[in-house]
Amino acid sequence: MREATTGTATLSETLIEQEERWGAHNYHPLDVVCTKGEGVWLTDVEGRRYMDFLAAYSAVNQGHNHPRIVEALVAQARTLALTSRAFRNDAFPPLLEKLCRLTGFDKALLMNSGAEAVETALKAMRKWAYDVKGVPYPQAEIVVAEGNFHGRTTTIVGFSTDPDSTSRFGPFTPGFRIVPYGDLRAVEAAIGPSTAAIFVEPIQGEAGVLIPPAGYLRGLRDLADRHRCLLVLDEVQSGLGRTGKLFAFEHEGIRPDGVTIGKALSGGLYPVSAFLASKAVMDVFTPGIHGSTYGGNPLACAVASAALDVLVEEKLVERAATLGAHLEARLRGMKTEKVEEVRVRGLWAGVQLRESAGPARPYCLALKERGMLCKDTHAQTIRLAPPLVIAREELDWAVDQLEAVLA
Ligand code: PLP
Repeated sequence: MREATTGTATLSETLIEQEERWGAHNYHPLDVVCTKGEGVWLTDVEGRRYMDFLAAYSAVNQGHNHPRIVEALVAQARTLALTSRAFRNDAFPPLLEKLCRLTGFDKALLMNSGAEAVETALKAMRKWAYDVKGVPYPQAEIVVAEGNFHGRTTTIVGFSTDPDSTSRFGPFTPGFRIVPYGDLRAVEAAIGPSTAAIFVEPIQGEAGVLIPPAGYLRGLRDLADRHRCLLVLDEVQSGLGRTGKLFAFEHEGIRPDGVTIGKALSGGLYPVSAFLASKAVMDVFTPGIHGSTYGGNPLACAVASAALDVLVEEKLVERAATLGAHLEARLRGMKTEKVEEVRVRGLWAGVQLRESAGPARPYCLALKERGMLCKDTHAQTIRLAPPLVIAREELDWAVDQLEAVLA
């Protein structure tokens, strides 16, 4: 419950104090207390408006509170919200078909958070290695990349190379070979007879929108084929339009054996994630060996179905490609000495600052004062990821603000 504003404290200050007093300190948010979202805009409790350039880490690709997705959520909530998978429901089958037809994968398994989709994928990779490839149990190995971010469960952070993620949470799950990102030779050297899969992000988002060298994904596909292991990609952040394609792997014209998605699958209205895969991979799952009480619930399915419709009908993928080219040109044209490198794919950019410019966070704070919200990542990088519904003039305004704080 909100406490009344006391003394001279603003409502924001009171709420921040309440959060700090009663909540775990596992985040370091910008001190803006949002109460309303609409399209690219967030409004705080004092009525200030901000342009959202994080889009909840790409969950809000369709824009905040898209009316059509909200409508689907409310209508489904009035009818049926949860049965568990112990019984069937009438929203689940149509979503499965819509998802598979849109993405070209044979089968889908629905979960809730991105990390759960990744856990599902990891289980599928290992079980495929034993059941199909014939790897002796329990020797399956998965080749992963340095700098990865796949979520926060203990197995996932166990193969992270980020000290914040690993943070003395061990002992960790064995069976992962970590190699430098973007290095095909290192991947090949790590592959052995027990390799189940190569599992990477096609672009590393949390690492600062790191785009691997051209040909990397094609090379991984080739290695996986030659060594009879799977290629599974984590598109929880890069997927569903962010990079100007439905999936980032399309930029190299390849198809992985499986992919994890989440975030924008619900347009930010509800936690929905999925593992999508070929039939040969998905068929390793048999009744009772994997699941989630909320996975595939009617509310999630109705929301995801509407979120996918919005993505397609509003041509948000194409929009990200067109506006992304404009964003890239504007960012490269900024007059500043503070930027080391600009990495852009679609409406997703990492603006890496020079050491001499100092850390990125103070620039994010300065942007907040100008009405633009974005997040630093890995100290030196400002990550830009607006909702894909952003207008060209809004994008221009945002780059003007960035250029001003970097002047
Ligand atoms: N995978 C990738 C590539 C991500 O960027 C994230 C979250 O940022 C996750 C997985 C985890 O998703 P969630 O936070 O929904 O568990």
